[in-house]
Amino acid sequence: MNKISLKNFTKEEQISFFQSKYEYYKLFNTRMITVSVLAYLSFFVTDCNIFGHFAFETLLSRAIVIIPCAIYLVLSKKVTDYRVMVPATYLMIHIIIWCTDWATYLLPDRQFAIPGMIIMNLIFVCAGFSAPFRYSMPAHIFLVVDIAVANIFIQYADIQMMYLFNIPCIVAVGAMHHMMQNVYFEHYFAKDQLKQLAVHDQLTEVYNRNKLKELVDAETGELTKFQGLNVSFLLIDIDFFKKVNDEFGHESGDKVLVWLADILKSAVRETDYVIRWGGEEFLIIMPGCTAENASRIAEKIREKVETSNNSVCKSTISIGVSQYTGGEYSAAVRNADDALYEAKNSGRNKVVVYGTSL
Ligand code: GH3
Ligand code: MG
Ligand code: MG
Repeated sequence: MNKISLKNFTKEEQISFFQSKYEYYKLFNTRMITVSVLAYLSFFVTDCNIFGHFAFETLLSRAIVIIPCAIYLVLSKKVTDYRVMVPATYLMIHIIIWCTDWATYLLPDRQFAIPGMIIMNLIFVCAGFSAPFRYSMPAHIFLVVDIAVANIFIQYADIQMMYLFNIPCIVAVGAMHHMMQNVYFEHYFAKDQLKQLAVHDQLTEVYNRNKLKELVDAETGELTKFQGLNVSFLLIDIDFFKKVNDEFGHESGDKVLVWLADILKSAVRETDYVIRWGGEEFLIIMPGCTAENASRIAEKIREKVETSNNSVCKSTISIGVSQYTGGEYSAAVRNADDALYEAKNSGRNKVVVYGTSL
């Protein structure tokens, strides 16, 4: 099997992957910013210690960070798009760095600048969880620019050491972000596979009833997915299927079910939904299709089943057709079921459209 990678995803799929990654780590992300701001504020105690008195000198440079942090937290409540929130997170981190530079500029003793900057790298590690690699890398590399600009004012005792400590940190954190993105990709892929499994029938590989939850409004039961379109329903049931099981065994019965499901899948459009409705009953939902067109397709399916061979026995099906006219979808299923009942009662191997011969 080819290894599935993010590079093979379309642009839309990549956006939905990064959105899912952001949403998964969103809470961690906002808490990480809050904790970082609190840590930054708590360094005021260190300032007081360095000054030997209440550090009025650095009070503003420490306290001011509360304003962008409050804006950031409000924004994170209102905006969910990662393309806004990830850059906002990195801006917030750089604001903390700029405030640190400001406070350092005001301090009489700057010997803690290098350990301080190394600690800043930890915030970048945390921010990388929710960010796409292509956002996290430039945002982290920008730390070098921060240092260079801060050096104009602060004139670090050893600017060379400042770069020498930070550059390997940036490389290591970058490599770690890349690995973290791959780990989330595996998680995302596994989650997607589970989701697919939940809406598919294991035997026939067509959809199962769970798929309907994606198409129907949970409260009203309306088919909200296809608003403005004619939608037709086909309810299909194998004739005398009990006999197949009785005469050839359950396993052979299963083979017939798989064979029928394959015929159904190949007979309908990509936009139609083939659902295993129950034992040997299938429901086909056809958006953009009137009952008249649906009955023509149903007739072709019936004929195909009658004239095709499976490896077990000759089989026929009966089909009930109905058109969805709004309201609860289950009414349209009931109508298709009534039409199917009529098809069964009038000799089987037939298509009956609800309302035409009832
Ligand atoms: P009719 O023409 O009236 O539909 O007759 P029928 O014998 O097909 O009757 P019915 O539709 O009630 O039969 C359903 C049968 O389908 C009963 C059950 O044994 C069989 N069945 C249901 N699920 C499965 C399955 O997963 N595998 C197999 N092999 N048989 C199944
Ligand atoms: Mg049945
Ligand atoms: Mg049957």
